[in-house]
Amino acid sequence: MSPTQGTGRADRAHSAGRTVVDIAAAVANGSLSAVAVLEENLAAIAARESEVHAFNLVTADRARERATQIDADVQAGKKVGRLAGVTIALKDNMCTRGVETTCSSKILAGWKPPYDATVVRRLADEGAVFVGKTNLDEFAMGSSTENSAFGPTRNPLDTSRVPGGSSGGSAAAVAAGFATASLGSDTGGSIRQPAALCGLVGVKPTYGMVSRQGLVAFGSSLDQIGPFTTTVADAALMMEVIAGHDPLDSTSLPQPAPMLTGELSKGVQGMRIGRITDMPEGSSPDVLAQLEAAFDALRAAGATVVDVQMPSMLYGLTAYYLVAPAEASSNLARFDGVRYGLRVDAKDLNSMYGATRAAGFGDEVKRRIMLGTYALSAGYYDAYYGKALKVRRLIADDFAQAYTKCDAILTPTSPTVAFKFGDKTSNPLAMYLCDVFTIPTNLAGHAAMSVPFGTGEAGLPVGVQILAPALGEAPMFRVAAELERAQ
Ligand code: GLN
Repeated sequence: MSPTQGTGRADRAHSAGRTVVDIAAAVANGSLSAVAVLEENLAAIAARESEVHAFNLVTADRARERATQIDADVQAGKKVGRLAGVTIALKDNMCTRGVETTCSSKILAGWKPPYDATVVRRLADEGAVFVGKTNLDEFAMGSSTENSAFGPTRNPLDTSRVPGGSSGGSAAAVAAGFATASLGSDTGGSIRQPAALCGLVGVKPTYGMVSRQGLVAFGSSLDQIGPFTTTVADAALMMEVIAGHDPLDSTSLPQPAPMLTGELSKGVQGMRIGRITDMPEGSSPDVLAQLEAAFDALRAAGATVVDVQMPSMLYGLTAYYLVAPAEASSNLARFDGVRYGLRVDAKDLNSMYGATRAAGFGDEVKRRIMLGTYALSAGYYDAYYGKALKVRRLIADDFAQAYTKCDAILTPTSPTVAFKFGDKTSNPLAMYLCDVFTIPTNLAGHAAMSVPFGTGEAGLPVGVQILAPALGEAPMFRVAAELERAQ
């Protein structure tokens, strides 16, 4: 079957070849060759990448070398890692030594980092094969991947629609069978929303659980790296590899990676699942119908559904669009034409800064830098940034209150299924509203994930979001596995 034909989860898993768990086991025991796995992905890329544009760069030669080495290690009886031969695509805001890392921005074009991000090293140490660097909204600012300086990515399930964003390339790469799994980054929803729109599992770990070292910073108090996979078990395994303390990231939690694969068969008997009674309005009926079906499935599996309130949820969006741009305006100040990528020469230093940034940054990035600089400026700090921090506190308090009554909360991941190109580009506020359900958990620093659950308008996948407290990955994965079984 061609990757365009699949609609259900099983079809997509088929079009993506095999799962992470299956490949790692089969390559390690010599029954499947890493080169064969890679060649399947490269064939899918050759067939459809010109239409989908998931990648900024495909690293086929490096990947072939790596896969050949893994097969040789297996033949020689050497111990190979937990991800032997698993093909992985990396969002192009993660540093890869000697391999161009652009953040889909002209300002970084041509920049080759001198080191690998911690997550990249951890995956490589376990035998992963990197296929390439994926497209994103410039500097991860957006919800549709239409803000990339190198052109948009298309949703492989329907190429007239967006894959979501900002990690749209990473989602599209897995959905199209270009890689078995991928990594994205999530500051306000950028893993969960594209996972929902492309019919994948996407995880935003607890803040500090996965190292940010080597991730080009957007909003440093919000950013987390996480996986895209076709199954919940694959996501659990990927998390076990990438999570855990990293002395190179000062915000990294001082504890080892959680063991999640063992949670998946435990079921949800006796668990309490929260339903937000004052949830922000505006979700489409097809999405809400699947959310109800998800509650029913968990009830049928022995969980209790309890009502919880999140009065501050709606204000999360406003607070986020002050906190995230404020942090971005500070983080992006390093792109000055001196240290990285593009430089536009001018008569003096200040004019060079101005000319480089004018040419190098796209409209959305400029908008965020201006919003953030304004929110932080003397005289406005208390009214804007200071107030946003207070709302952030209220959101954490609301969650703390809700989690006295439940172990996890279900919401839609995105208010709608994948939308058409251009639908929201002329209205930044409409685009920002895509993240109404995903943002609050970033502000609180908690765990969250999206799992595909049924289909909506035009047969497109719907994602259900599971929210859990900080370090609540284990119960969260139990719920995710149950929702997957229920389909
Ligand atoms: N869509 C949100 C934004 O534009 C979130 C992006 C993200 O999580 N990187 O900021």
